[in-house]
Amino acid sequence: SIGKLFDLAAEKGRDKEALADVSRGIRRTFSEWKTDVNQCANALHEAGVKKGDRVSTFLFNCAELATVFFACAKIGAVLNPINFRLKSQEVAFILTDCSPKLVLFEKALTPEIDALHEQFPYTLFWSIDSAPPSYASYYHDKVKSAPVHDVQTEVAEDDLYAIMYTSGTTGRPKGVLHRHRDMIDQAMVCAMALRLTPNDCGLTAAPMFHCAELHCCFLPRVLIGAKNVILHHFDPKQVLDVIEKDQVTIMFGAPTMWNMLLQEDLGLADFSSMRVGLYGAAPMAPALVKALKEAVGIDLVQAYGMTEMGPAVTFLAEDEQLTKAGSAGRVCFGHELIIARPNEEGPAEPDDRLKPYEVGEILVKGPSVMAGYHQRPEASEKALYKGWYHSGDLGYLDKDGYLFVADRVDDMIISGGENVYPREVEDALYEHEGVLDAAVLGEPDEKWGETVVAYIVKKNPELTEDDLEIFCKEGSRLAAYKRPRKYIFTEQLPRNASGKIQKFLLREQLAAHTQA
Ligand code: AMP
Ligand code: MG
Repeated sequence: SIGKLFDLAAEKGRDKEALADVSRGIRRTFSEWKTDVNQCANALHEAGVKKGDRVSTFLFNCAELATVFFACAKIGAVLNPINFRLKSQEVAFILTDCSPKLVLFEKALTPEIDALHEQFPYTLFWSIDSAPPSYASYYHDKVKSAPVHDVQTEVAEDDLYAIMYTSGTTGRPKGVLHRHRDMIDQAMVCAMALRLTPNDCGLTAAPMFHCAELHCCFLPRVLIGAKNVILHHFDPKQVLDVIEKDQVTIMFGAPTMWNMLLQEDLGLADFSSMRVGLYGAAPMAPALVKALKEAVGIDLVQAYGMTEMGPAVTFLAEDEQLTKAGSAGRVCFGHELIIARPNEEGPAEPDDRLKPYEVGEILVKGPSVMAGYHQRPEASEKALYKGWYHSGDLGYLDKDGYLFVADRVDDMIISGGENVYPREVEDALYEHEGVLDAAVLGEPDEKWGETVVAYIVKKNPELTEDDLEIFCKEGSRLAAYKRPRKYIFTEQLPRNASGKIQKFLLREQLAAHTQA
């Protein structure tokens, strides 16, 4: 179980620094951290949290979240990390769905939680104050006085370890169920892809409630005995500062985060300690990858996946970034990935496989794929039809088995009967120097069925629609049917916590825009 592996790592690491919550100056060796984890586990136990009970967290990144993570694993409680950006009614939906015994919430988010006490009279609510430099709150009162002895709960590899809610861009969020074994497999896969060693020092700046940070980065680093530096939230200036001060060797960032770093003045930034940067969770245009490599000079690795897959199932290695530009890499060890013909009537048939370069639905099988959705037998059966996880992502494999992710099945545009993959158009637009951010979607059209519309955030204020049209056309970058018929300039694109553009919001905006 994850709890046992944590103890092993802690025994090996002993006096080595394990955890640094740099926003508040909290630093722990492996032995000290193990004591924290045991006290937290005992406090949870004393509060009545038993094996199988859910513990929800509604927290910014902080040392306590890292501690609760392993405390839950030790007593067999099921961790449910909730996105701290959600509003009370969205949180209420998740709490109703997974009915936790205890909610650990950020003191600064009290207004969102206050609205919920009446609705959940049997749930315990403990506050944690992670605002720098605070180190006092209800949680700490409970944990400080708890015993330090080891908690012994028998946890088997098939026991549940977490319920992670999907971001719900396609309906209500669903609770993704992961077992201990799934996440140990995921940690191994990531440790190998990133060649982690105990000498690494990882920076957690992306939100920990999201599985990309939690499972691909934080968990494998702890289990291998590496050091972890935690930032309260992503702030480009602080990231640069911490990389230098703590000699960070590895960090994950969603494409937006790397893009934000690129907008900083990198003249004085010292990246010399950095060994590798991981990106993923959303598409990143090849032009950005190239710019990043040139600006910071560190090796980059890409991961592709989704919460239901563990999340990461393909990796594009350091030396493949330019030779296989635009690809998300090859499937990781122990997993299988195929492209099946999309089926409008129901789940794609895994036997109906497509040839290299043919775009279809991405299906995945392997040890870190979820057990199913919480209390959703029908959705689970559909998603895991015939033993393959049906991603709803479109993509193709090239002749060497490299995956190219196109788009969500639902985002594909069909214009004049031709398929247009928004991502391809976005990638072309990103190549223009004047473009900071781009999102492409379809607009209903009588003649063509749909036409292509591009939302653009300018880097260069002088940029015009004509510049972009000429760029796409004259550079022979895009066929006529793929070229945007309309450009809409905007200050900012709506994105969710993991950096994915919320196209459903843009679609609403577009409908309003067209009516007006
Ligand atoms: P989530 O479950 O929140 O991690 O979202 C998963 C979705 O993010 C996937 O279904 C993809 O559409 C997208 N995604 C994740 N990684 C990548 C990647 N490397 N390239 C393109 N899209 C990605
Ligand atoms: Mg598994």
